[in-house]
Amino acid sequence: MGLLSQGSPLSWEETKRHADHVRRHGILQFLHIYHAVKDRHKDVLKWGDEVEYMLVSFDHEKKKAQLVLSGEELLETLQEKGERTNPNHPTLWRPEYGSYMIEGTPGQPYGGTMSEFNTVEDNMRKRRKEATSLLGENQALCTITSFPRLGCPGFTLPEFQPSPVEGGASKSLFFPDEAINKHPRFSTLTRNIRHRRGEKVVINVPIFKDKNTPVPFIETFPEDEEAAKASKPDHIYMDAMGFGMGNCCLQVTFQACSISEARYLYDQLATICPIVMALSAASPFYRGYVSDIDCRWGVISASVDDRTREERGLEPLKNSHYRISKSRYDSIDSYLSECGEKYNDIDLTKDKEIYEQLLQEGLDHLLAQHVAHLFIRDPLTLFEEKIHLDDANESDHFENIQSTNWQTMRFKPPPPNSDIGWRVEFRPMEVQLTDFENSAYVVFVVLLTRVILSYKLDFLIPLSKVDENMKVAQKRDAVLQELFYFRKDICKGVRAHVHRHHHQRQGREGVFPGLIPVLNSYLESMEVDVDTRCSILNYLRLIKKRASGELMTVAKWMREFIAKHPDYKQDSVITDQMNYSLLLKCDQIANGSCECPELLGPAFRKARHSGSKSDSST
Ligand code: GLU
Ligand code: MG
Repeated sequence: MGLLSQGSPLSWEETKRHADHVRRHGILQFLHIYHAVKDRHKDVLKWGDEVEYMLVSFDHEKKKAQLVLSGEELLETLQEKGERTNPNHPTLWRPEYGSYMIEGTPGQPYGGTMSEFNTVEDNMRKRRKEATSLLGENQALCTITSFPRLGCPGFTLPEFQPSPVEGGASKSLFFPDEAINKHPRFSTLTRNIRHRRGEKVVINVPIFKDKNTPVPFIETFPEDEEAAKASKPDHIYMDAMGFGMGNCCLQVTFQACSISEARYLYDQLATICPIVMALSAASPFYRGYVSDIDCRWGVISASVDDRTREERGLEPLKNSHYRISKSRYDSIDSYLSECGEKYNDIDLTKDKEIYEQLLQEGLDHLLAQHVAHLFIRDPLTLFEEKIHLDDANESDHFENIQSTNWQTMRFKPPPPNSDIGWRVEFRPMEVQLTDFENSAYVVFVVLLTRVILSYKLDFLIPLSKVDENMKVAQKRDAVLQELFYFRKDICKGVRAHVHRHHHQRQGREGVFPGLIPVLNSYLESMEVDVDTRCSILNYLRLIKKRASGELMTVAKWMREFIAKHPDYKQDSVITDQMNYSLLLKCDQIANGSCECPELLGPAFRKARHSGSKSDSST
């Protein structure tokens, strides 16, 4: 989740005093990088995935599953045995927000050849195996997007009481600070977001109304004035950063050949974000309840919303500089490529001084406004030892602001003095249960970038329409029930016709008209070994079947699992036992000891059981 600095974190009041300093030097650091590498051309596309994991413990007697707060120790061991011992180690491990979380990536980026697609799943399996081998008895490494009983009494191991008192990081009624990663960055982020905002974060997720769900569904919090005011009827109320950043996702980063290719990819992929998010939907449950949404996005967005009341438009501007329409975790607000300019129809708040300065330094309007927009935010954490930096050779202040703008896409300049190129990160996907599915989504997105670049495709539609897509994408069963705006003519240079396309239950080919066929025909035109081709076709088949409804999304499958559970009382409540059964099942599916054709399809079984061979029909 970003850069880790060691040292003494400053309070919000102190950090705020240095905010202009951080911004000023962040921009200087960016400019150093920009001027040094704006003309760099790389010939290979490199890329890598990031998978976030949760550590789950099963008590088979009590039928209870809990999140194990041992991420820091596990990480230490993994790094010690891995990258620190062998620089060519195949996996890299990083911390994540929850003390029960960990993040794994391949040790080296993947290259541009097709055969690399056939190594992704193996690498993911290696990661799972490596981390699993270090876990205690009855513990598992799970790739679930949201833990159904996150924030319920006793959801962690060891158990801790939340401490909703002043001085705590979250002040949450539900989420104990002990569940936050022990590195000071994470608790400081949590506390400073709350202090900057002026109150606890507020997350209200609509409850799924089942037959026996109380009408209206109301929870009362008489002991907490903020909660009493903020919680809404018919909603699941949550009050901590952990409810959002304590969720897991699947991300892909691409290195482009040049800055302009990166800007082009950034724009094109931005339009795909809502659709791929809906296809990857995997988070229907929150705080022990069945919700009416399938994706984590809005939950995380609210969980790190540090905007003041003035910035949110609830009070006239007095102490804050701007009205800001979105949280720091949200969809992008402007396209970066020239062809995107005419579709930039969202009001863009920007730091005018920074914008002017960047123009004077020779940046074009689009890039200047992008950076000036990111820089309307304050730094959220600052370490005393890291205030005065060498702007020509360090980029911490730039990264401070950049890495706490958690948007659907991230445009990443190279680090100073490195041979890394310009990169873009694709961030909306939810993590899937198995390495097979995660590989499928990753390969699908990477292949899409190849096709976009080779065929010069154009998916751009007005950005406001992409935002509308983001909203519907999170709804329950959006992939089948909702309508998405999508460009009709995706051949570049042709005028856009925005229209609504229905992902129908039957009869439709794929994600949207023609896309899977385009990927397939690209595949046909490439020289690919048989084995790799089989894997890729398997992956594309999964995506296609999820899009058509022939296979379920993880969210839908989880809903059905709970609905059919013998303990379920059709009251939207997920008990400890139900949580236990669900997670046990998820773990069995992930480690291959249990099949799940409704989620993975028969091709998966075949592929797994007969090595890499599988039928390539369809
Ligand atoms: N876990 C966050 C999510 O689900 C992402 C954190 C990160 O940027 O690494 O989107
Ligand atoms: Mg991460």
